[in-house]
Amino acid sequence: NSLDIIQRENRDLKRIGIMGGTFDPIHYGHLVIAEQIRCEYRLDKILFIPAGNPPHKLNTDVSSSRHRYFMTLLATVTNPFFEVSKIEMEGEEISYTIHTLTKLKKIFSEDVKLFFITGADAICDIENWKDVEILVTMCDFIAATRPGLESPDLEEKIRQLQCKYNSSIRKIDVPALAISSTDIRCRVREGQSIKYLLPESVEYYIYKHGLYR
Ligand code: ATP
Ligand code: MG
Repeated sequence: NSLDIIQRENRDLKRIGIMGGTFDPIHYGHLVIAEQIRCEYRLDKILFIPAGNPPHKLNTDVSSSRHRYFMTLLATVTNPFFEVSKIEMEGEEISYTIHTLTKLKKIFSEDVKLFFITGADAICDIENWKDVEILVTMCDFIAATRPGLESPDLEEKIRQLQCKYNSSIRKIDVPALAISSTDIRCRVREGQSIKYLLPESVEYYIYKHGLYR
């Protein structure tokens, strides 16, 4: 009967979280939000996508995509639900989220529902992202709060976005980890410890390849 079909369809619908970032380097802030959202939203898998040429970081010194891809692989290897995608590493062109999602939708079948995971700081900027009106129809957005970057303005901003784009943007509170890649790069440059801010394998990768010095 029809109820049976609906139940079967629901069970077959795969729920995939897309975690985009520069990951220069990836750290426990990223990993904690991905895992918490995976559990809370019952996602089948989280796909980490290191940005190819992030449009908002064109004028900054970003490590090669190869290094960022390897570090993301190392950091996610112990979680059976985490995977890393090279989808943005292939071209030389600027990697816009809309292009990545379009490609992913083509790769995955109809029975996949995508959830785009970002930090609350990043979501506030979403209206400056390429083709935002189309983008918000392609998947749900889950914005994780980020310590140090929360403000009454931010709450209000997310509420406005929810209204404007019909609630496909949600906020989620995660255990606060005030870790950022910028701070980690800074610490390496100044010879300070980065222990316990990111997986040990990534820490050693950074030293082995002399990154951020
Ligand atoms: P950078 O300092 O170089 O900008 P970052 O730490 O912000 O690095 P990104 O690779 O830019 O890391 O982040 C990818 C996504 O993860 C962004 O949406 C960002 O908001 C989110 N994010 C990063 N760190 C945290 C954290 N500690 N808590 C919550 N969200 C985070
Ligand atoms: Mg950032």
